[in-house]
Amino acid sequence: MVSFAPDVESRLQTCRLCRRTDAQVSSEYPSAGQAGNPLGLKTVVGCPHCDFAWAEPMRTQADLDAFYSSGSYWHQNQGGPELHAHQAVQARVRLDFVRAFCRSDGSLRILDVGAGNALIADELARISRATRFRYVGIEPDRNVREAAANRLRDARIEASFAQDLAEAGEGFDVIFLNHVLEHVEDPVGFLRRLSGRLNHDGILYVEVPNQDFRFKSDVFPHVQFFSPKSLRKVAECVNCEVMVVEAFGRVQAVGANEGFLERLYRAFWVRVFGYAAKSGLGRVANLANRALYGYQPSPAGLWVRAILRPGRGVARE
Ligand SMILES: [Zn+2]
Repeated sequence: MVSFAPDVESRLQTCRLCRRTDAQVSSEYPSAGQAGNPLGLKTVVGCPHCDFAWAEPMRTQADLDAFYSSGSYWHQNQGGPELHAHQAVQARVRLDFVRAFCRSDGSLRILDVGAGNALIADELARISRATRFRYVGIEPDRNVREAAANRLRDARIEASFAQDLAEAGEGFDVIFLNHVLEHVEDPVGFLRRLSGRLNHDGILYVEVPNQDFRFKSDVFPHVQFFSPKSLRKVAECVNCEVMVVEAFGRVQAVGANEGFLERLYRAFWVRVFGYAAKSGLGRVANLANRALYGYQPSPAGLWVRAILRPGRGVARE
Protein backbone atom coordinates (compact mmCIF):
# COMPACT_ATOMS: atom_id res chain seq x y z
CA MET A 1 0.00 0.00 0.00
CA VAL A 2 1.34 3.36 -1.00
CA SER A 3 1.39 6.11 1.57
CA PHE A 4 0.25 9.55 0.47
CA ALA A 5 1.29 12.95 1.71
CA PRO A 6 -1.05 13.80 4.63
CA ASP A 7 -2.78 16.64 2.76
CA VAL A 8 -3.56 14.36 -0.22
CA GLU A 9 -4.74 11.54 2.01
CA SER A 10 -7.13 13.54 4.16
CA ARG A 11 -8.50 16.07 1.69
CA LEU A 12 -12.25 15.53 1.24
CA GLN A 13 -13.68 16.02 -2.23
CA THR A 14 -17.10 16.41 -3.82
CA CYS A 15 -18.30 13.19 -5.44
CA ARG A 16 -18.45 13.64 -9.20
CA LEU A 17 -21.64 11.54 -9.29
CA CYS A 18 -23.83 12.12 -6.18
CA ARG A 19 -22.27 15.49 -5.19
CA ARG A 20 -21.82 14.58 -1.52
CA THR A 21 -18.70 16.05 -0.06
CA ASP A 22 -16.70 13.32 1.69
CA ALA A 23 -15.05 11.37 -1.12
CA GLN A 24 -11.36 10.64 -0.59
CA VAL A 25 -8.32 9.00 -2.11
CA SER A 26 -8.68 5.24 -1.78
CA SER A 27 -5.56 4.03 -3.58
CA GLU A 28 -2.74 4.85 -5.93
CA TYR A 29 -3.76 4.62 -9.63
CA PRO A 30 -2.70 1.10 -10.72
CA SER A 31 -0.59 1.38 -13.87
CA ALA A 32 2.62 0.10 -15.38
CA GLY A 33 4.53 3.27 -14.42
CA GLN A 34 5.17 6.54 -16.25
CA ALA A 35 5.58 5.09 -19.74
CA GLY A 36 2.41 3.00 -19.47
CA ASN A 37 0.35 5.94 -18.18
CA PRO A 38 0.81 8.83 -20.65
CA LEU A 39 -2.19 10.70 -19.18
CA GLY A 40 -0.37 10.97 -15.82
CA LEU A 41 -3.24 9.57 -13.68
CA LYS A 42 -2.10 9.39 -10.06
CA THR A 43 -4.80 8.35 -7.60
CA VAL A 44 -8.25 6.73 -7.34
CA VAL A 45 -10.81 8.73 -5.33
CA GLY A 46 -13.89 6.92 -3.98
CA CYS A 47 -17.27 8.02 -2.60
CA PRO A 48 -18.57 6.14 0.47
CA HIS A 49 -22.22 6.94 -0.37
CA CYS A 50 -22.82 6.01 -4.01
CA ASP A 51 -19.78 3.70 -4.41
CA PHE A 52 -18.50 5.65 -7.43
CA ALA A 53 -14.75 6.13 -7.90
CA TRP A 54 -12.65 8.08 -10.40
CA ALA A 55 -9.06 8.84 -11.34
CA GLU A 56 -7.28 12.04 -10.37
CA PRO A 57 -6.15 14.32 -11.82
CA MET A 58 -9.17 13.98 -14.13
CA ARG A 59 -8.37 14.77 -17.76
CA THR A 60 -10.60 16.87 -20.04
CA GLN A 61 -12.60 15.14 -22.76
CA ALA A 62 -10.42 16.94 -25.33
CA ASP A 63 -7.29 15.34 -23.82
CA LEU A 64 -8.96 11.93 -23.78
CA ASP A 65 -10.21 12.31 -27.37
CA ALA A 66 -6.71 13.22 -28.53
CA PHE A 67 -5.35 10.08 -26.86
CA TYR A 68 -7.96 7.70 -28.39
CA SER A 69 -7.79 9.13 -31.89
CA SER A 70 -3.97 9.02 -31.88
CA GLY A 71 -4.06 5.27 -32.57
CA SER A 72 -2.00 4.37 -29.52
CA TYR A 73 -4.94 2.79 -27.65
CA TRP A 74 -5.94 0.27 -30.32
CA HIS A 75 -2.32 -0.25 -31.19
CA GLN A 76 -1.86 -1.77 -27.70
CA ASN A 77 -5.05 -3.78 -28.04
CA GLN A 78 -4.41 -5.69 -31.26
CA GLY A 79 -3.47 -8.91 -29.49
CA GLY A 80 -3.78 -11.54 -32.22
CA PRO A 81 -6.08 -14.60 -32.43
CA GLU A 82 -6.56 -15.14 -28.68
CA LEU A 83 -7.82 -11.61 -28.03
CA HIS A 84 -9.96 -11.77 -31.15
CA ALA A 85 -11.53 -15.08 -30.03
CA HIS A 86 -12.12 -13.67 -26.54
CA GLN A 87 -13.82 -10.57 -27.95
CA ALA A 88 -15.96 -12.72 -30.28
CA VAL A 89 -17.29 -14.71 -27.29
CA GLN A 90 -17.95 -11.47 -25.40
CA ALA A 91 -19.91 -10.11 -28.39
CA ARG A 92 -22.04 -13.27 -28.45
CA VAL A 93 -22.71 -13.12 -24.71
CA ARG A 94 -23.75 -9.45 -24.96
CA LEU A 95 -26.06 -10.03 -27.89
CA ASP A 96 -27.72 -13.06 -26.24
CA PHE A 97 -28.29 -10.95 -23.12
CA VAL A 98 -29.75 -7.99 -25.01
CA ARG A 99 -32.06 -10.01 -27.28
CA ALA A 100 -34.22 -11.02 -24.31
CA PHE A 101 -35.17 -7.33 -23.93
CA CYS A 102 -35.83 -6.59 -27.63
CA ARG A 103 -38.94 -6.91 -29.69
CA SER A 104 -38.17 -9.91 -31.88
CA ASP A 105 -39.94 -9.01 -35.10
CA GLY A 106 -39.09 -6.61 -37.89
CA SER A 107 -35.78 -4.88 -38.32
CA LEU A 108 -33.67 -3.44 -35.55
CA ARG A 109 -31.45 -0.41 -35.79
CA ILE A 110 -28.33 -0.83 -33.68
CA LEU A 111 -25.76 1.73 -32.59
CA ASP A 112 -22.44 0.42 -31.25
CA VAL A 113 -20.53 3.21 -29.50
CA GLY A 114 -16.78 2.62 -29.27
CA ALA A 115 -17.18 -0.24 -31.73
CA GLY A 116 -13.49 -1.18 -31.92
CA ASN A 117 -13.23 -4.18 -34.25
CA ALA A 118 -17.06 -4.24 -34.52
CA LEU A 119 -17.43 -7.88 -33.51
CA ILE A 120 -21.04 -7.16 -32.50
CA ALA A 121 -21.69 -6.64 -36.22
CA ASP A 122 -20.25 -10.08 -37.06
CA GLU A 123 -22.58 -11.63 -34.50
CA LEU A 124 -25.55 -9.73 -35.94
CA ALA A 125 -24.64 -11.01 -39.41
CA ARG A 126 -24.50 -14.57 -38.04
CA ILE A 127 -28.05 -14.44 -36.60
CA SER A 128 -29.65 -12.16 -39.16
CA ARG A 129 -32.10 -14.66 -40.65
CA ALA A 130 -35.18 -14.01 -38.49
CA THR A 131 -34.44 -10.38 -37.69
CA ARG A 132 -32.87 -7.82 -39.99
CA PHE A 133 -30.35 -5.43 -38.56
CA ARG A 134 -28.98 -2.08 -39.53
CA TYR A 135 -25.73 -1.51 -37.70
CA VAL A 136 -23.91 1.78 -37.15
CA GLY A 137 -20.57 1.64 -35.33
CA ILE A 138 -18.88 4.70 -33.87
CA GLU A 139 -15.13 4.31 -33.68
CA PRO A 140 -12.78 7.31 -33.39
CA ASP A 141 -9.67 5.39 -34.51
CA ARG A 142 -9.59 5.68 -38.29
CA ASN A 143 -7.48 2.58 -39.01
CA VAL A 144 -9.64 0.32 -36.87
CA ARG A 145 -12.83 1.81 -38.35
CA GLU A 146 -11.71 1.31 -41.95
CA ALA A 147 -10.55 -2.26 -41.34
CA ALA A 148 -13.93 -3.17 -39.80
CA ALA A 149 -15.84 -1.48 -42.65
CA ASN A 150 -13.85 -3.47 -45.23
CA ARG A 151 -14.39 -6.75 -43.39
CA LEU A 152 -18.16 -6.22 -43.16
CA ARG A 153 -18.65 -5.16 -46.76
CA ASP A 154 -20.07 -8.56 -47.76
CA ALA A 155 -21.82 -9.37 -44.48
CA ARG A 156 -25.55 -10.14 -44.40
CA ILE A 157 -26.33 -6.92 -42.57
CA GLU A 158 -26.27 -3.28 -43.50
CA ALA A 159 -23.23 -1.96 -41.63
CA SER A 160 -21.87 1.57 -41.62
CA PHE A 161 -19.48 3.58 -39.49
CA ALA A 162 -19.32 7.06 -38.05
CA GLN A 163 -16.55 9.01 -36.37
CA ASP A 164 -18.73 10.47 -33.64
CA LEU A 165 -22.22 10.75 -32.23
CA ALA A 166 -23.19 13.77 -34.33
CA GLU A 167 -22.48 11.78 -37.50
CA ALA A 168 -24.28 8.60 -36.37
CA GLY A 169 -27.90 9.81 -36.63
CA GLU A 170 -30.75 8.82 -34.31
CA GLY A 171 -33.82 6.58 -33.96
CA PHE A 172 -31.98 3.49 -32.65
CA ASP A 173 -33.65 0.44 -31.08
CA VAL A 174 -30.55 -0.69 -29.19
CA ILE A 175 -27.42 1.21 -28.25
CA PHE A 176 -24.40 -0.80 -27.11
CA LEU A 177 -21.97 0.90 -24.79
CA ASN A 178 -19.34 -1.76 -24.16
CA HIS A 179 -16.46 -0.61 -21.99
CA VAL A 180 -16.81 3.03 -22.98
CA LEU A 181 -18.23 4.79 -19.92
CA GLU A 182 -15.05 4.20 -17.87
CA HIS A 183 -13.10 6.12 -20.56
CA VAL A 184 -15.06 9.41 -20.72
CA GLU A 185 -14.73 12.53 -18.59
CA ASP A 186 -18.48 13.01 -17.96
CA PRO A 187 -20.33 9.65 -18.02
CA VAL A 188 -23.68 11.18 -16.98
CA GLY A 189 -23.65 13.80 -19.76
CA PHE A 190 -22.45 11.18 -22.25
CA LEU A 191 -25.30 8.77 -21.39
CA ARG A 192 -27.84 11.59 -21.49
CA ARG A 193 -26.81 12.51 -25.04
CA LEU A 194 -26.98 8.86 -26.11
CA SER A 195 -30.39 8.15 -24.61
CA GLY A 196 -31.85 10.99 -26.73
CA ARG A 197 -30.91 8.96 -29.82
CA LEU A 198 -33.12 5.99 -28.95
CA ASN A 199 -36.58 5.19 -30.33
CA HIS A 200 -39.39 5.56 -27.79
CA ASP A 201 -39.11 1.89 -26.77
CA GLY A 202 -35.34 1.63 -27.36
CA ILE A 203 -32.84 0.30 -24.80
CA LEU A 204 -29.25 0.92 -23.80
CA TYR A 205 -26.86 -1.92 -22.99
CA VAL A 206 -24.08 -0.65 -20.73
CA GLU A 207 -21.10 -2.80 -19.76
CA VAL A 208 -18.16 -1.63 -17.64
CA PRO A 209 -15.48 -3.23 -15.45
CA ASN A 210 -16.56 -3.85 -11.84
CA GLN A 211 -14.22 -1.42 -10.00
CA ASP A 212 -11.20 -3.05 -11.60
CA PHE A 213 -8.71 -0.94 -9.63
CA ARG A 214 -9.44 -3.37 -6.77
CA PHE A 215 -7.94 -6.40 -8.48
CA LYS A 216 -5.93 -5.36 -11.56
CA SER A 217 -2.32 -4.22 -11.50
CA ASP A 218 -2.85 -1.96 -14.53
CA VAL A 219 -6.15 -0.20 -15.29
CA PHE A 220 -4.83 2.45 -17.68
CA PRO A 221 -6.56 4.34 -19.35
CA HIS A 222 -9.74 3.97 -17.21
CA VAL A 223 -10.75 7.24 -15.54
CA GLN A 224 -14.09 6.13 -13.99
CA PHE A 225 -14.80 3.06 -11.83
CA PHE A 226 -18.33 1.68 -11.50
CA SER A 227 -20.10 -0.96 -9.42
CA PRO A 228 -23.74 -2.13 -9.76
CA LYS A 229 -24.67 0.44 -7.10
CA SER A 230 -22.97 3.42 -8.76
CA LEU A 231 -24.17 2.40 -12.26
CA ARG A 232 -27.73 2.42 -10.86
CA LYS A 233 -27.04 5.94 -9.55
CA VAL A 234 -25.81 7.01 -13.01
CA ALA A 235 -29.08 5.69 -14.53
CA GLU A 236 -31.06 7.68 -11.96
CA CYS A 237 -29.12 10.85 -12.86
CA VAL A 238 -30.08 10.47 -16.55
CA ASN A 239 -33.71 9.54 -15.79
CA CYS A 240 -33.42 5.97 -17.09
CA GLU A 241 -35.34 2.97 -15.81
CA VAL A 242 -33.00 0.14 -14.79
CA MET A 243 -34.41 -3.10 -16.22
CA VAL A 244 -31.44 -5.06 -14.87
CA VAL A 245 -28.03 -4.28 -13.39
CA GLU A 246 -25.67 -7.01 -12.23
CA ALA A 247 -22.03 -7.92 -11.77
CA PHE A 248 -21.01 -10.97 -13.80
CA GLY A 249 -18.05 -13.02 -15.00
CA ARG A 250 -15.27 -14.73 -13.10
CA VAL A 251 -12.34 -12.69 -11.80
CA GLN A 252 -9.12 -14.39 -12.84
CA ALA A 253 -7.56 -14.94 -9.41
CA VAL A 254 -3.79 -15.08 -9.43
CA GLY A 255 -0.91 -16.24 -7.27
CA ALA A 256 -1.53 -16.73 -3.56
CA ASN A 257 -5.29 -16.11 -3.89
CA GLU A 258 -5.71 -19.20 -6.00
CA GLY A 259 -5.97 -22.79 -4.71
CA PHE A 260 -4.28 -25.77 -6.39
CA LEU A 261 -7.44 -27.07 -8.09
CA GLU A 262 -8.41 -23.61 -9.29
CA ARG A 263 -4.91 -23.15 -10.73
CA LEU A 264 -5.11 -26.53 -12.48
CA TYR A 265 -8.58 -25.73 -13.88
CA ARG A 266 -7.44 -22.36 -15.19
CA ALA A 267 -4.16 -23.66 -16.64
CA PHE A 268 -6.03 -26.42 -18.50
CA TRP A 269 -8.62 -24.09 -20.06
CA VAL A 270 -6.03 -21.39 -20.86
CA ARG A 271 -4.11 -23.99 -22.90
CA VAL A 272 -7.21 -25.33 -24.64
CA PHE A 273 -8.37 -21.79 -25.41
CA GLY A 274 -4.98 -20.69 -26.75
CA TYR A 275 -4.68 -23.75 -29.00
CA ALA A 276 -8.25 -23.47 -30.29
CA ALA A 277 -8.01 -19.72 -30.96
CA LYS A 278 -4.74 -20.09 -32.91
CA SER A 279 -6.08 -23.07 -34.87
CA GLY A 280 -9.36 -21.39 -35.78
CA LEU A 281 -11.46 -23.92 -33.79
CA GLY A 282 -14.23 -21.47 -32.98
CA ARG A 283 -16.52 -23.82 -31.02
CA VAL A 284 -13.74 -25.15 -28.80
CA ALA A 285 -12.43 -21.60 -28.20
CA ASN A 286 -15.96 -20.54 -27.28
CA LEU A 287 -16.32 -23.44 -24.79
CA ALA A 288 -12.91 -22.83 -23.20
CA ASN A 289 -13.45 -19.07 -22.94
CA ARG A 290 -16.79 -19.61 -21.19
CA ALA A 291 -15.12 -22.06 -18.78
CA LEU A 292 -12.55 -19.36 -17.94
CA TYR A 293 -14.76 -16.30 -17.63
CA GLY A 294 -18.13 -17.79 -16.64
CA TYR A 295 -20.23 -14.82 -17.85
CA GLN A 296 -22.81 -15.67 -15.15
CA PRO A 297 -24.17 -13.18 -12.60
CA SER A 298 -21.91 -13.04 -9.55
CA PRO A 299 -21.82 -10.30 -6.85
CA ALA A 300 -18.00 -10.03 -7.00
CA GLY A 301 -17.92 -10.46 -10.78
CA LEU A 302 -15.35 -9.09 -13.17
CA TRP A 303 -17.73 -6.78 -15.06
CA VAL A 304 -21.06 -4.96 -14.57
CA ARG A 305 -23.85 -4.98 -17.19
CA ALA A 306 -27.13 -3.10 -17.27
CA ILE A 307 -30.16 -2.63 -19.52
CA LEU A 308 -31.52 0.91 -19.29
CA ARG A 309 -34.66 2.39 -20.80
CA PRO A 310 -35.12 6.17 -20.89
CA GLY A 311 -37.97 7.32 -18.66
CA ARG A 312 -40.58 9.90 -19.54
CA GLY A 313 -39.32 13.46 -19.65
CA VAL A 314 -35.84 12.57 -20.94
CA ALA A 315 -34.54 15.55 -22.87
CA ARG A 316 -33.91 14.79 -26.53
CA GLU A 317 -31.29 16.65 -28.48
ZN1 LIG B 1 -21.07 9.68 -4.53
